[in-house]
Amino acid sequence: MGRAFVYVILGGGVAAGYAAHEFVKRGVSHGELCIISEEPVAPYERPALSKGYLLPEDPARLPAFHCCVGTNEERLTPKWYKEHGIELVLGTRVKSADVRRKTLLTATGETITYKILIVATGARALKLEEFGVSGSDADGVCYLRDLADANRLVNVMQSSSGGNAVVIGGGYIGMECAASLVINNINVTMVFPEAHCMARLFTPKIASYYEEFYKSKGVQFVKGTVLTSFDFDSDQKVTAVNLRDGTKLPADMVIVGIGIRPNTSLFEGQLTLEKGGIKVNGRMQSSNNSVYAVGDVATFPVKIFSETRRLEHVDFARKAARHAVAAIMEPEKTTEFDYLPFFYSRVFTLSWQFYGDNTGDVVHFGDFSGNRFGAYWVNKGQVVGSFLEGGTKEEYEAIAKITRLKPAIEDLVDLEKQGLGFALTL
Ligand code: FAD
Ligand code: NDP
Repeated sequence: MGRAFVYVILGGGVAAGYAAHEFVKRGVSHGELCIISEEPVAPYERPALSKGYLLPEDPARLPAFHCCVGTNEERLTPKWYKEHGIELVLGTRVKSADVRRKTLLTATGETITYKILIVATGARALKLEEFGVSGSDADGVCYLRDLADANRLVNVMQSSSGGNAVVIGGGYIGMECAASLVINNINVTMVFPEAHCMARLFTPKIASYYEEFYKSKGVQFVKGTVLTSFDFDSDQKVTAVNLRDGTKLPADMVIVGIGIRPNTSLFEGQLTLEKGGIKVNGRMQSSNNSVYAVGDVATFPVKIFSETRRLEHVDFARKAARHAVAAIMEPEKTTEFDYLPFFYSRVFTLSWQFYGDNTGDVVHFGDFSGNRFGAYWVNKGQVVGSFLEGGTKEEYEAIAKITRLKPAIEDLVDLEKQGLGFALTL
């Protein structure tokens, strides 16, 4: 049993949705494109799962956040795919790939053949078991990667209202979920191994602002230690977490956000991998020229920094997907991908954006006792990164612009004095 398509997108997440939109904009014909996804729903804006989806009042639910509402473009419902002759093969895992034969074998036993493949398989959440702790499947222990996880988390939150939650990990999932738990009237303790939250991006000064804000909302922090085991009741429901420093924290529920691993296993030994992802060139093309990779799974050349990176953020997934489709459909008109890394988050009433690279000297600016402050990173005499909390649209555009321009900086003290004004006047 089998079907053949010109283009196949493997994975049905953010990158798949934006790639499909771009295929249609560029005139794909009916019956040429197929999307295969393990998830049972059409591509959606994954960031909603840790934000609007977890609200106690009027939460976001599909079909409201199908791609491409995240960029204020049209919403691609299953009807849209049908109208454009795109085959959505949902709830179907691909269990093997053969890039030499250009075939994918699904768990249902179907062989799907392509001329061009876009790999957009995203990533899976790291499990505690990979750090020697068991109990991930227990009642009350939650992860958050897909819609099924989000539904489970909502149920667990509802049955824990007024109770205690422990959040393991001080990264994006930890910070966004902790805020959602507070809004759902749950007492939160965050546990992570580093000295401060968001350790890979935030400076201690920036982290301290957010930690103090969280503390003002009742969140407690236990830093510099990790979980070693859970306690369960006779129904195998979690009742407490035990930490390496000997502390026992009572818990009606636990959320674990300790990082991800890209889903590359189908292509190991077939495509060149680098930095944990599928290595692609500036056209998002892998070591096999019929296979492209985009989103969390792709390691690509960041032209502005002359090095390859893998990025786990939605803006990159969207833009890389569109770029791959442009390179496939109009190769002669498509230049090398020139992407400025962009990360953001929204928690409580706070909202920040970051552009570029957080290397070199840091220059903080603004009012850290108020609600608008930021930082520049200066490496080898040039601005390479900028962060801003509480900015306006114009201010965020300004910090993005100067980060791309990489202006020379002679005097860090002067840059500190100018602060946001430096970006606004350049
Ligand atoms: P995904 O969106 O993860 O999609 C991968 C798809 O591939 C999934 O549908 C999966 O089921 C499918 N798949 C995998 N393997 C197979 C297989 N073998 N067969 C069939 N299908 C398969 N980034 C930000 O910049 N800002 C945010 O605010 C933000 N919030 C986030 C909130 C949450 C809860 C999560 C989990 C992530 C968030 N991110 C955010 C990160 C962002 O969502 C990802 O970078 C983005 O989704 C990557 O897109 P992708 O298409 O590469 O992968
Ligand atoms: P992150 O990589 O952001 O953070 C993981 C955190 O867990 C780090 O602080 C890490 O520390 C810590 N950690 C690692 N191992 C352990 C352990 N054994 N016990 C306790 N803590 C540990 O991953 P997340 O899980 O938070 O996020 C998953 C994915 O979702 C990421 O790709 C992220 O980009 C994406 N996401 C993005 C959002 C956004 O951009 N706004 C929002 C939500 C999710 P260390 O640094 O030392 O390894």
